[in-house]
Amino acid sequence: MTPPNRDRFSAPVTDLPGVGPGTAEKLARLNVETVGDLILHLPYRYQDRTRSVPFDELEPGSECLITGRVTSSGIAYGRRRSLLTRLTDERGTLTIRLFHFSRRQEQGIRPGMWMRCFGEVRMGPAGKEMVHPEYRMHRDQPPPAAAELTPVYGATQGLTSARIGKWVAAALARCGEVRASRLPDDDFPELMDAIRYLHGPTGDTGHADPQRLQAARERVALDELTGYFLVMKRRHALLDKETTRALPSGPRLGRALLTALGFRLTRAQARVTGEVLNDLARQRPMMRLLQGDVGSGKTVVAAFAAIRAAEHGCQTAIMAPTEILAEQHFETLSTWLSPLGIGVGLLTGRQSAAERRARLAAVKDGSDLVSVGTHALFQTGVEFHELALAIIDEQHRFGVHQRMQLRDKGRLPHQLIMTATPIPRTLTMALYADMDVSTIDELPPGRLPVRTHGAAMSRRDEVIERVHGWCRSGRQGYWVCTTIEDDDENELNAAESVYAELAAHMPGLRFGLVHGRMPPTEKNAVMADFKAGEIDILVATTVIEVGVDVPNASVMVVDNAERLGLAQLHQLRGRVGRGSMQATCILLYEAPLSAFARERLAVMRDTTDGFKIAEKDLELRGPGDILGTRQTGEETFKLADLGTHRHLVPRAMALGDRLVTEDPQTAETIIATWSGPEAEYATV
Ligand code: ADP
Ligand code: MG
Repeated sequence: MTPPNRDRFSAPVTDLPGVGPGTAEKLARLNVETVGDLILHLPYRYQDRTRSVPFDELEPGSECLITGRVTSSGIAYGRRRSLLTRLTDERGTLTIRLFHFSRRQEQGIRPGMWMRCFGEVRMGPAGKEMVHPEYRMHRDQPPPAAAELTPVYGATQGLTSARIGKWVAAALARCGEVRASRLPDDDFPELMDAIRYLHGPTGDTGHADPQRLQAARERVALDELTGYFLVMKRRHALLDKETTRALPSGPRLGRALLTALGFRLTRAQARVTGEVLNDLARQRPMMRLLQGDVGSGKTVVAAFAAIRAAEHGCQTAIMAPTEILAEQHFETLSTWLSPLGIGVGLLTGRQSAAERRARLAAVKDGSDLVSVGTHALFQTGVEFHELALAIIDEQHRFGVHQRMQLRDKGRLPHQLIMTATPIPRTLTMALYADMDVSTIDELPPGRLPVRTHGAAMSRRDEVIERVHGWCRSGRQGYWVCTTIEDDDENELNAAESVYAELAAHMPGLRFGLVHGRMPPTEKNAVMADFKAGEIDILVATTVIEVGVDVPNASVMVVDNAERLGLAQLHQLRGRVGRGSMQATCILLYEAPLSAFARERLAVMRDTTDGFKIAEKDLELRGPGDILGTRQTGEETFKLADLGTHRHLVPRAMALGDRLVTEDPQTAETIIATWSGPEAEYATV
């Protein structure tokens, strides 16, 4: 049954008075398409305009509302021409400074008038001042300040937070109740009360109540996490209704690989391989996540799975996130599988049309039993002879929305999803409730943990000298460049100037450069040279973050490591320490470090355990990191934050389990509130 407000909730934003197609288009950039999306587009912070702060209480760096009387105003000709206005209140004075102003503005500010401003306080040459605040002039003392905190919404070009606020209010007025929202957990407010409060927290006391705000956020987060968990559980249950080709144990070709490998599987690898092969033997499609730290040896598990499919004459598609990785998987798997008579093919974007046609034909007639390519390539509709297994090397966590895409002749293949970003055990069960999870929790023997040091940028020359020495004695290393902005052009500039700098200071070494702007052919050629030992130092942007395997590389320097998050630093560092040599990683940072950055570097120094790092990562993720995580495709939640709301996860799971049996209708409503159509299997 559809809840009464469902239709209004899912109505397009253009149903609201005054929202035309132009605004709708802009809202869509914020992933806001329906009236309900607007209601759930919650502010990410608030401005306090509920109280005018007396001048003697103004704190530099704070953002606040002030009210004062103009004592003088006029143009000052200093280093830059500016309009200076002096204000007083009963408790002190304040300067307002405008650098850009019109004649009308200049004439509009006259002594004796009242001025109300909102902006940031800072220390100026003559005491506290505000530069370019929002302001308004009044002839008489202005009315009392706003009754509510002013929400600040995620905005987009051409759409200010204030305008979004107006549409939100309209949406709330139109669609008063999302649903009856009482949860069996009764110490929480009603969902809608919480949502309304978040959009316009009333200051009963003139101040918003931080505790109430937090409780409201938690209420909404609990709902969202419960919704997520319910969707995952439902997906899992749906698998029971699917059948696919069972791949029971066959001629045991795997044994041949086992003896040919040249190393013994770790206990974890053996256990996990067993779990995968067991799944494959069943008719229910496998949906298994293979979690394992960088370098834990996931590829070989994938190989055993592909061999099992091949024993039945069935095909495996292996999808890698980048071309470099696809090539690398192709090489490894060809080495392992070709001797067993299993045809392995590579599909890449840089193949000639003829090559590509040949590969596609081999996939279609089944002579390539294993095909490796990028995710993007397989999404263009490759035709298989008989696809039984899809292996997805995805590197990111929670890439939930697009799972289960690949169907072959209407059937879901078995799927193995490999991720190198471990997540804390406490979260695995909830976040991956749609899958079975296998974890490789040990590294191959003989690996020495990478020694990690931090070094301030002032010691850069010293670091260069050290690295020079190491690499002259035969070691290979990466020098990783980071930029503040996530933009290829910037990265390229940074990498090129570092390349020139290092080449000038380290005579006798051979250098290579890889960056995101390079055509894949060139990038691959450089990587191949590095792998072959023909390059000593590879200057790289963070493109090498993903899975590249060069066992002889044992030195890594990360320039401006303070800019990177823990997960990314861990991934990068995983590029070294893959061989038997003691590896070293130097994190060069610009002082002074923020408290969070200092702690991140300390974590990196103290541990190499990906699970511990993941745990810390969540703990240390400040609200400031929200944008950073968005970029990595982790836009799973609207409001819930795995850092601040971790403690709610077990509760959401318990709640979800309970709702499914006791109150399926509420479960349905929660799912409908939080997920669009992607709650179902996405099928291609
Ligand atoms: P990841 O889990 O990061 O994908 P890989 O599969 O690339 O790791 O393996 C990392 C390296 O370790 C490869 O060079 C691989 O051949 C090697 N390796 C894998 N398993 C073992 C093992 N049991 N003993 C020794 N080396 C291993
Ligand atoms: Mg890998």
